[in-house]
Amino acid sequence: MICLGLESTAHTFGAGIFDGKARANEKDMYKAVGIHPREASQYMTTNAPAVIKKALSKAGITLEDVDVFAFSRGPGLGPCLRVSSVLARTFSEYFRKPLVGVNHCIAHVEVGKWEKRMKDPLVIYVSGANTQILGLAGGKYRVYGETLDMGLGNALDTFAREYGIPLPGGAEIERLAEGGKLMPMPYTVKGMDLAFSGLLTAAKKAAKTHSKKDVCYSLQENAFTMLVEVSERALAHTKKKELMLVGGVAQNKRLRSMLEEMCRDHKAEFGVPENEYNADNGLMIALTGWKMAKAGITGAGPVDQKWRTDDVDVSW
Ligand code: AMP
Ligand code: MG
Repeated sequence: MICLGLESTAHTFGAGIFDGKARANEKDMYKAVGIHPREASQYMTTNAPAVIKKALSKAGITLEDVDVFAFSRGPGLGPCLRVSSVLARTFSEYFRKPLVGVNHCIAHVEVGKWEKRMKDPLVIYVSGANTQILGLAGGKYRVYGETLDMGLGNALDTFAREYGIPLPGGAEIERLAEGGKLMPMPYTVKGMDLAFSGLLTAAKKAAKTHSKKDVCYSLQENAFTMLVEVSERALAHTKKKELMLVGGVAQNKRLRSMLEEMCRDHKAEFGVPENEYNADNGLMIALTGWKMAKAGITGAGPVDQKWRTDDVDVSW
């Protein structure tokens, strides 16, 4: 069974092909100071055909050979989501093959599990817009903890603008933070949930009077420690033996080392997928769509900008 997966939740248009093995994973990214949803979707509409053609030629197949068409149905930006939705629906109708709507967050988890060969990890998903601690229990990816306001990546990106750092700013903040000193800043953990807006406001204020190094360091240390605290609690309670870090913020070395240390204490294995699979991509949609179709789960409703991870029955 060959599945073509299309991703277009935010800035990346991706086309992946999976048939039990990864056959292709092509992408094109909309780049700007911020994501303008309509402009991003126009960029994707213009460039999608080339990305899909490249994926098909990498896999050595044509559209007629595809057995299942999968797309990222949500969560994400409406205009962007509709690009892969319209394409996949059209292909599915035209070639009379099943359609599968895939949850983007779950696809991040599934492709990570596949690549890291993990069986049942606790997952920390930290991207621009999302921050969730997830784990499979009773047929659903349960959300053990999550942000109550913004995603951690967006908090870093918003702060980065104070220094005129263009989007995405997380990597540059990581570089600036090296060797900084810790200053007191808000630390907001509410039960198992997190909030970053107080920390962000404090960091913006401190940026006017303190050194870049110390402010970036303190912002990172507070945000990451909050995340490690709830993750450790989730790991201890669920007794899972694997911890996987996914999403764009997973590239941060400081965050990785803090989590590695915590995992050592709990004798849990720690893994981060390779960037090709960790950043938004088409293969994660193809792989998840393939698994779902194999289990007989096909069909898809309209795109859902706020589709929650714990709304999906994981019966594959
Ligand atoms: P995604 O939404 O998964 O594409 O991830 C993008 C987010 O990852 C942006 O908010 C970036 O600022 C963030 N990011 C990328 N590299 C790093 C890094 N080295 N440290 C922290 N955040 C990062
Ligand atoms: Mg993503």
